[in-house]
This record gives sequence, C-alpha cells and structure tokens, in this order.
Amino acid sequence: MGRAFFSMADQFLDTSIEFIKGVGPKRAELLGEELHLNTFGDLLFYFPFRYEDRSKFYKVSEIHGDLPYVQLKGQITFMEEMGDRYRKRLVAKFRDDSGSVDLVWFKGVSYFKKVLKTNQTYILFAKPNLYKGHLNLVHPELQSLEEYQSQLSSKISPVYPSTEKLGKMSLGGRQIQKLSRNLLQKAKGRIPENISDEIRSKYALINREQAIFQIHFPENAEELKKARFRMKFEELFFIQLEMLKLKLVKLESSQGYVFSQVGDYLNQFYEKYLSFDLTGAQKRVLKEIRKDLGSGKQMNRLLQGDVGSGKTIVAVMSMLIALDNGFQAAMMAPTEILATQHYESLKELLEPLGVRFALLTGSTPKADRIPIHEALEDGSMQILVGTHALLEDKVKFKQLGLAVIDEQHRFGVAQRARLWKKSKQAPHVLIMTATPIPRTLAMTLYGDLDVSTIDELPPGRKPIKTIHWYESKRLRLFGFMEEEIAKGRQIYVVYPLIEESAKMDYANLEEGFQHIFKRFAPPKYKVSIVHGKMPADKKNFEMDRFVNGETDIMVSTTVIEVGVNVPNASVMIIESAERFGLSQLHQLRGRVGRGAEQSFCVLMTGNKLSSDSRTRMQTMVETNDGFRISEVDLQLRGPGDLTGTQQSGLPINLKLTDLARDGRIIKLAREAAEDLLNRDPDLAMNDHSMVKHYIQQQKKGKMDWSRIA
Ligand code: ADP
Ligand code: MG
Repeated sequence: MGRAFFSMADQFLDTSIEFIKGVGPKRAELLGEELHLNTFGDLLFYFPFRYEDRSKFYKVSEIHGDLPYVQLKGQITFMEEMGDRYRKRLVAKFRDDSGSVDLVWFKGVSYFKKVLKTNQTYILFAKPNLYKGHLNLVHPELQSLEEYQSQLSSKISPVYPSTEKLGKMSLGGRQIQKLSRNLLQKAKGRIPENISDEIRSKYALINREQAIFQIHFPENAEELKKARFRMKFEELFFIQLEMLKLKLVKLESSQGYVFSQVGDYLNQFYEKYLSFDLTGAQKRVLKEIRKDLGSGKQMNRLLQGDVGSGKTIVAVMSMLIALDNGFQAAMMAPTEILATQHYESLKELLEPLGVRFALLTGSTPKADRIPIHEALEDGSMQILVGTHALLEDKVKFKQLGLAVIDEQHRFGVAQRARLWKKSKQAPHVLIMTATPIPRTLAMTLYGDLDVSTIDELPPGRKPIKTIHWYESKRLRLFGFMEEEIAKGRQIYVVYPLIEESAKMDYANLEEGFQHIFKRFAPPKYKVSIVHGKMPADKKNFEMDRFVNGETDIMVSTTVIEVGVNVPNASVMIIESAERFGLSQLHQLRGRVGRGAEQSFCVLMTGNKLSSDSRTRMQTMVETNDGFRISEVDLQLRGPGDLTGTQQSGLPINLKLTDLARDGRIIKLAREAAEDLLNRDPDLAMNDHSMVKHYIQQQKKGKMDWSRIA
C-alpha cells in the first residue's frame, strides 16, 4: 500500500529542525520552546500570517496609524541618542521627497547608531505607530538599496510570526523566512499528498507540495490564492472527518446516564440560597438541560449567551442535578484565572449546601493533588473545578456524570473526547460560550451539538455607556477615572497585545502603565498589573487583589478577556481600541456592567482612523447586543484581501481558515468528508490509503489538537 514511499517522506518531515541550514542545536531548542517548531514538518506548516507587497512604496506623507506596514525609500538625515542610562533610545529622522518621519529604537541603541549611515538610501519596512498622536516607526527594518535589489525574487514577501525572545536570538520573522526558504530547497519530492486524486480533481485542489511551496513563497496573488484554498480545504477536510467520526461513534453509544430526579441539593439551593430570580431565558435553558439529562441519551449541549447573561448559574444548577442523582461533576475553564474565579463563585454558592468541591490547576502543589485524586476516586469529592489539568490521566472520577466546559473555543474537539473517557460511560457535556457564532457556522462547526441560547440579560442591569475618545481627550479620561474611583468604583485599563509586534506592545504597555502609575500613585491609589508573560501565581495574586477590591485599577493585556467577574469594576478603558476586532471589544466590555452602578466603556484611539475602525467604534457606541455586533463584524470583514489573520474564539484550532470568510470552503470540505465516509467508512479502499495514513500520523500526536490558546 505504498508504505515505503510514505515512511521515507515521513522521515524527512520528522527530521529535527536543528538540521536546517542556519539553525543548530541551541536555536532548535528555542524554536521548540517558543513556537513548538521541532521538526521539518513543523516548519513547513508554520505559515506566513500575512504577506507584504514589496512592489509598493509609500510616501512618507501617505502613512497613517492604521496601515499594517509600509515600505519607504529614503534617507536618514539625522540621528540622536536620547533618554537616560536606564531607558536609552535612538531617534532618527527619515526623509523622502514628501516629508520626514521619526524612527525610534529602544533596543540595540549603540549598535544601530554605529551601523546606520546618514545620507545613504535605505529601503525601510515598519509598522506605523501612533504614540500620543504623533506618528513614528519603532524598530524599523532597514536594507541598503543594493541589498534590497539583490534579494528580491518575488514581489510578495511572506511574514512569519515570532516572539520577543526569538527576536533577541536573531530568530525574528525575517530570519524565520530565511529558514523556511532553506528548508523548501530540500523539500522537493518529500511532501506526501494526503487527499485522494479523485477528491482533488473534484474540488480543483492543487497538489500538496505545490501548495506548500506557494503558500510560503508565492509567485503571484493567483498562485497564493490557489495554495491557500488547497490548504484550508485540507485543514477543514480532516477536521470534518474527525467530527463526523465522533458523531458516528456517538450514535453507536449515545446512551447517557439518566438523572431522573431533582433532589435536595437543587431544591434547597433554589429555595434558600439563590438570591435572585432566574430570568425567563435561564429558566427555559434549564428546562432544556433537565430534559436532556433525564432522557437516557448523552447530552452534548452548547450554551450560548452574551457576556453577563448568567450562564454560570445555569451550569451550577445543572451540576446540582448531577449530584442529586449521586454523580460527580467537573467544570473546566481555559485559564487559571477563570478556573479560580469559578471556584470562588462555587464557594459562595455551594458552601452553605455542604457540597464538597476542589480546584485543580497546573499550579496546584503536588501535595494537595493527592488527597484530591483520592477523594475523586472514592466519590467523596463531588465537584472538581479546574483548567486542562483535569484532563490528566491521574485524574479519575468514581462516577463523572456531567462535565461543564467554559469558553470551549479554547479547547479542541479531541479534548472533549478525553473527558468522556474519564467515565465508564460518556458523561453529559455542557459547553458554555459567549462568542456568538452565526447560525450557519455553528451548524457546521458544532454539527454534533444541540444549542441553547440565553438571549436575555438579568433585570436591573443598566446598559453600559460606551464612549469613544481620541487621544487628545487623555486628560479628560484621567479626570473621569479619578471621579469614578472617588465614588468607590474600580477600573480596568486594557492594552492590545498582538504577537506580530509584541515588542512594541510591551513597550506601550509599560509606558502606559508608568503613565497611569504616575498619575494614580500610592498611597492614594493602588494599581494592579497583569500580562500574559507573568508567572501564573503572580498573575493570580494581582488578580486577587483587584477582585478583593484592594486595588483601584487593573492594567492588563487582553488576558482578562474571558470570564472574570468583578461587579464593583464599572469602568472599562480600552487603549488603542482600533487594534481590536469588534467581537473582542464586546467581550472586553462585558467585564463591566455586572453591578448595580452605571458602567462605562471608554474606547481610546489615535486621531487618524480608517473607515472600518470608525465603523467599529461607532457600532460599539451604538449597541450592546452581541449578536448585532457579530453581524457587523462579519460584514466588515467580508471576503477578500491577502492577509490572513490568526483567529481566536474558535471551537477548534484553525491555522488558516477564517470562519467569517470561508463558509464556502467549510461546506465543500464537509461535503467531501461526508461523501468519503459514506462510500468507505473505514477508509479501507486503496484510493483512500493516503487519507488514512495521514490520519494515523496525526494520531501519533503530530497534529496539534491539544494546544490551548
Ligand atoms: P456569564 O458567564 O454569562 O458571562 P455570569 O454567570 O458570570 O455571566 O453572570 C454575571 C453576573 O450576573 C453574576 O454576578 C451573576 O451572579 C449575576 N446573575 C446571573 N443571573 C442573574 C439573575 N437572573 N438575576 C440577577 N443577577 C444574575
Ligand atoms: Mg462566564
């Protein structure tokens, strides 16, 4: 069955990345740690996240803060070192015939000062940055004219994401491009096809090797389009195969535990401890869930509801039904902060009932784990809350009856399956998400789930007032913050952090933080800071201080995006709001408006905005309705341009596919997968051996099902 051919090719793909020209053991290790790039195969599938059109030059007079990058041609007319010993920076003036713009370096100051020459022509690439209303270019990439001319083969140049740490080790995006080029030189004839000829010709898919070559170094936009189509199709095709098989397996064994009764736990909770009336929507959804739980079939239900709509209480009451029937329940969240917060809510809600529950995360000390493991196995522990640490093999339940998964888009389908295995029989599964996914897409992606929607907010909520302010209103903003703090409120200040320019973002974050810290200095004010690179315990500590009202302001990157609940925090300030997508802005805004007080969301942006950015801000100011917002989001993003973006908020890990734009490909891939399984459910036919082989390779843990964002 062509086995020999496959294994030769596999060997190539499995070769350690260290053997690519320009890597070596040390950098290989770093690439593994930072980007999960360990083998040739990993790097071949590390796709550019956008492409630069190197045929286009901007004029200095044309650039503005919304451009993703610009290429300029001109000269440095002036350079000066500024700042003090601790925070040195190099500032230069770059001029073409239309004007001049500042260049700024925070790192490598003396190096750049030495190597850069004034009055020599450079080609410059950079992302325009708006700092306090002033445009500059931070850490631009410069090439001499000769170098530029000698290097350029195609006009479309791939850009790869990298990290700050890698950048320091000369493994930034530009260097990864070089490695990718070196690898491709060796890859000819060694990238096996994985979709049968028949399917390829039916859907006009170019072959796999060609697609990979073109997706990295496209000859032109047309070739790139074909390559991306092929690779998206492949991505979706194998996911759909997996989903369909999951569904088949479930049809065969869809027997579920029967929770026939509502007992003391739920009744007592409802009558004695629930401090508010459920909304109509919550009642309806609970009814749906109860019906499932009693039906004898395994429940797989998606609970959709806007931020703040009260999904948690529904989940808690569902868990109590499990307990009333002598079963255990688990609640899994994507981050430690969220898991901890759920744990705290459970304390408040369930301690009076005498329910026994525990928290398990990556940072639970080993000594604490053992009694938890034991109590789970003998059944005395009734509820376990935690992160993906719950999935570890050591965690065994006596009788897991219900698994609640919060913000499931961060968990893969395969992880859900792992939860099932924790029980003799698949437990009921309730998945909560606040990402409103348009119905058609939800159908395809959650093809195997039933959906309940909470479409009503708890009463008495004052709608959040959203304001859009330009940078020029900063003093007014600070004044406003002072007033709100004086009223006893707490405030979030959120900065964007996007991998592409992580370095610059951290500079922004730090600078912004210092700004705020200066203005809101102790002892009068207290400020917390949380960002993605902090160790978990420090993050939790800072988070706790804010949750407990010990600090007035929480400055953070988007790590607080999902789920945290601090009712007294009534002001959300989003810095550089133009850099967030609509749904992300809406999610962030949902962190406030949870208490009785009037809440505010302030969107701070630079003065120059693209028309799309303006529409986004306007939409936010006009409406609080998540579904309306997701519609506008889809419209804005409509089909189109070259750039692919890394999407978050997805139920599965998609490298290339954009749910908003690729509905057609999703349908095609689904159709192809269905057709294939109908004709050959075990993939036993010779024609399909490459499909089968590829799936087996994936199973060996090559495909990254398990990565959690
Ligand atoms: P979600 O997870 O859907 O974003 P939560 O479950 O965290 O929302 O609920 C947000 C807040 O609203 C919590 O403080 C919760 O106690 C409160 N809440 C939930 N349901 C109701 C209700 N029916 N009436 C009043 N407050 C509610
Ligand atoms: Mg929640």
